[in-house]
Amino acid sequence: MQVSKNHAFGTRAIHAGQRPDPTTGAIMTPIYQTSTYVQQSPGKIIGEYDYSRAANPTRAALEANLADLEGGKFGLCFSSGVAATGVVLHLLSTGDKVLLGDDVYGGTNRLFHRVFGQLGIETVLVDMTDLDAVKAAMDDKVKLIWLETPTNPTLKITDIKAVAEIAKANDVILAVDNTFATPYLQNPLALGADIVCHSTTKYIGGHSDSIGGALITNDPDLHQRLKFIQLSEGAVPGIMECFLLLRSTKTLHVRMQRHCENAMKVAKHLEAHPKVESVIYPGLESHPQHELAKAQMPGFGGMITIYIKGGLEESRSMLEKTRFFACAESLGGVESLIEHPAIMTHASVPADQRAKLGISDNLVRLSVGIEGVEDLIADLDQALG
Ligand SMILES: *Cc1c(COP(=O)(O)O)cnc(C)c1O
Repeated sequence: MQVSKNHAFGTRAIHAGQRPDPTTGAIMTPIYQTSTYVQQSPGKIIGEYDYSRAANPTRAALEANLADLEGGKFGLCFSSGVAATGVVLHLLSTGDKVLLGDDVYGGTNRLFHRVFGQLGIETVLVDMTDLDAVKAAMDDKVKLIWLETPTNPTLKITDIKAVAEIAKANDVILAVDNTFATPYLQNPLALGADIVCHSTTKYIGGHSDSIGGALITNDPDLHQRLKFIQLSEGAVPGIMECFLLLRSTKTLHVRMQRHCENAMKVAKHLEAHPKVESVIYPGLESHPQHELAKAQMPGFGGMITIYIKGGLEESRSMLEKTRFFACAESLGGVESLIEHPAIMTHASVPADQRAKLGISDNLVRLSVGIEGVEDLIADLDQALG
């Protein structure tokens, strides 16, 4: 079944990039577990494929599916989210500068500063919610803006369209890490971004069983450059991972709807809880950018950050007591997770920067899963004591 832009997200999630196997009619895209492809004569390939680092049919189906969900023409998949991120950075040269959101995933911060910094690519941290700060940071050397929205873990919202206008005016590439929102809640390309990045490890995979990344763009030239780096560096996903992700994207819309519903209920409950100082969730009216979130996203996702009353001791006690909320890094799976950013996911961010961002000892991050919400609320209540 051919799908078009006019079809609903759920229809595209299930059908885009998919077709019955031409030789058997198998409805599911087969796992083409092969490294190479037989040629009729030297250089004369039978189909479209010659070697699986360059391209593989299972991966191609996934790349087409993800591109469609993001409203993009071209998709590329990688062995991890940070592998995808590194490929974008390899578009740059020594002496170039990047404006990086000051509140991005810890591993992204580390990659920009400690790996690409050594190659002479300078990273400047900017609060992307402050458009004047973005404009002020711009100069001739800036070649790339990289942002996340909502951010991690303080769930700040950036006006993608406004930053895209600044990027365009300065001839700078805008890349948006859309991992937290997923294509179901936000399509950065439609708002003017040049590249969308995903850690498919999180909501897109959704079952905490694989590591992967993706890049999507509408620009044929940018796509060719990214594809060349993908081929040359080789950080491609395994074929089984591609198959697992194709399975996952078919239920992305259903999972996201439940993540959003559950998270809203949990956020409202915690906001009224006597042991909780404050709750950050873009769906709450108390979120400083609630109006922008409403305008940019049809739902607010499954991530909640809370400041509990007390300090490290109280946080530790809560994280040791939850039962359905497993204490673990990562997010976006069907099962609920709880973590302590200062000690866990954001340990690689320097302490002074953590303090500036409000990543304190009483800050706890929740990835609200799709279990029965009454059980999740009861679990948090007993853990808060
Ligand atoms: C996890 C994550 C990444 C990195 O992805 P990996 O798949 O772990 O390499 C990048 N960005 C965000 C927002 C993430 O949550």
